[in-house]
Amino acid sequence: MRPGLQPSRDSAFFWQGLRDDKLLCQSCDHCGRLRHPPRPMCPDCGALEWSAQRLSGRGRVHAWIKPVHPPLPMFEEGFLVALVELDEGIRLLSNLCEISAADVRNEMPVEVFFIEIDAEGAKVHQFRPTGESVDG
Ligand code: ZN
Repeated sequence: MRPGLQPSRDSAFFWQGLRDDKLLCQSCDHCGRLRHPPRPMCPDCGALEWSAQRLSGRGRVHAWIKPVHPPLPMFEEGFLVALVELDEGIRLLSNLCEISAADVRNEMPVEVFFIEIDAEGAKVHQFRPTGESVDG
């Protein structure tokens, strides 16, 4: 079992979205800037008002690593951590699945999917290759 989630007041909407198989971010009500991870204030204009916006879940691998130490028993062996740049221009950390480390390429097109991590229906977002080429 993976570690339990610790939603904060700012991030609760994000985790709730994952339960509904939706990847959400904050959109500033004043200037429209998208932001992630969730935080109270817009980094561009300082506004506190925001709305949840659904993201496409499609993007590219910006950077990635294969952690080897310490071993984490709740993860299957050989998991990958990726920083994904979404088509909307924001980046988020996740796992890269359904591919071995030797086959990962920077800028590889990926898409989100969701996995349940506990009996209460909590989910996390994961990414997998779309099968399109890096140049596509
Ligand atoms: Zn703003």
